[in-house]
Amino acid sequence: MEARKPRLAVWKFASCDGCQLSLLDCEDELLAIAGAIDIAYFPEATRGEVKGVYDLSLVEGSVTTAHDVERIHEVRRRSKTLITIGACATSGGIQALRNFADVREYISIVYAHPEYIHTLETSTAISEHVPVDFELRGCPINKGQLVDVVSAFLAGRRPNTQAHSVCIQCKLKGNVCVMVAKATPCLGPVTHEGCGALCPSYDRGCYGCFGPKETPNAPSLSGWFARMGMDSKGLGRIYRTFNANAEPFRKESERHDAQDRKG
Ligand code: SF4
Ligand code: SF4
Repeated sequence: MEARKPRLAVWKFASCDGCQLSLLDCEDELLAIAGAIDIAYFPEATRGEVKGVYDLSLVEGSVTTAHDVERIHEVRRRSKTLITIGACATSGGIQALRNFADVREYISIVYAHPEYIHTLETSTAISEHVPVDFELRGCPINKGQLVDVVSAFLAGRRPNTQAHSVCIQCKLKGNVCVMVAKATPCLGPVTHEGCGALCPSYDRGCYGCFGPKETPNAPSLSGWFARMGMDSKGLGRIYRTFNANAEPFRKESERHDAQDRKG
């Protein structure tokens, strides 16, 4: 009798769907993946649903409502392995900017009928609510890394994703450092690899969409930015993009915010 294929589920929480689209964008690899697994639940791609427990769940998006909190616990109960994909799921995403502000003020500005909006005051990573087996960073994720993560699951090995910085990728490509050569502020030294140093390859600084690398030294990098002329307002803001709520970036932006308030 043929062995049952592992069942894959893809879940969405608060997000733009870009990371799920990265999975659909794996056109060349998707047929091979689909041959090795059963896509049991993936509303973005198919209306069919196999109910029950899933061998691998990929979770996109952050927790922003009371319903999300209940749902992520249910997803965890129904998943043997749970992998979070993208900045929303691994740090709270751009929507975590609410964590530094009064969300009611945002709601009143954005929505014509704020009375219909029921939301938490924070946007948080999935790992703040349930145990997560692996976090894949990026906004959006790198599809090559995604295929590797799914292959690693199927082969029972660790993913090959490295935790080093964008700087290493610049060195591997032979890029001239934009900070040293052009005094362009660049978050590459504290940012997780995954994009192939895309922005510095086009003479632009990195703004951190892959989130913090392993053991980032953000205070040291801020010192360099300050010597290049960035004030505390700028330093408070530079870490507040897609991964504003990732702890090393959050702490560093809050430190400079506090300095800015002191004047
Ligand atoms: S991490 Fe970025 S691309 Fe992925 S769902 Fe969130 S906002 Fe979209
Ligand atoms: S912002 Fe940084 S992490 Fe994002 S694509 Fe550009 S270089 Fe890569």
